[in-house]
Amino acid sequence: MSAPYIDIHTHGQFTYEENEVICVKSLGAAEVAEGNAQGFFSAGIHPWWTLDYTKPELTNFQESIVKMSLHQSLFAVGETGLDRVYKETLEEQKELFSWHIDFSEKNRLPLIIHSVRAGSDILEFLKERKPTVPWIFHDFRGNKELVDAILKLHLNVYFSFGISLDNSQQTRELIREIPMEHIFLETDAQKHLDIKDIYLRASEQLGIDEALLKSIIAQNFKRVCLKN
Ligand SMILES: [Zn+2]
Repeated sequence: MSAPYIDIHTHGQFTYEENEVICVKSLGAAEVAEGNAQGFFSAGIHPWWTLDYTKPELTNFQESIVKMSLHQSLFAVGETGLDRVYKETLEEQKELFSWHIDFSEKNRLPLIIHSVRAGSDILEFLKERKPTVPWIFHDFRGNKELVDAILKLHLNVYFSFGISLDNSQQTRELIREIPMEHIFLETDAQKHLDIKDIYLRASEQLGIDEALLKSIIAQNFKRVCLKN
């Protein structure tokens, strides 16, 4: 049997044939608050939520995530991270990111990270915290220098790509420069995108057979499945 497609980070709900695709669904705010989910899912506090929710509401999200980790099969923590487009809440974002790092280490769960213009902050966190669980940078938009700097500090790291394979020449070049054992693919919030199309584009960029890409990414997935 051929390896399944892996959509490492999605907010959507797709229907695929059984065993064809494994989707890691990133829960929305209402779902995190409710604390109820099924299948492969990740739960965390998105950095943008610091703009939309009060401190007590954010604390409720944290409590709900803790509960989910006790009672359900939480696959990963996140997405969480830092977004310097919204500098006004950067300190709050850092506090929350720090909490997620601790939580992922304590529970031995991979961390799914949203990082926008925050490469140097991420490097600081890596130097200080020396994480051991896998870190997955979703929709990675950094450059090769940042990739190298991150990999020097943490080997158990993955860079995930989706829509930017379509709309960014930089990403198309970057994916070829990252060792394939550090790559994932994703649909994120792109409702019109099918993960199979992303695999097709990535295999074109990498110049390899799609079946080979599927098996490499499936191996990567096995390495990040710490609990399942
Ligand atoms: Zn996302």
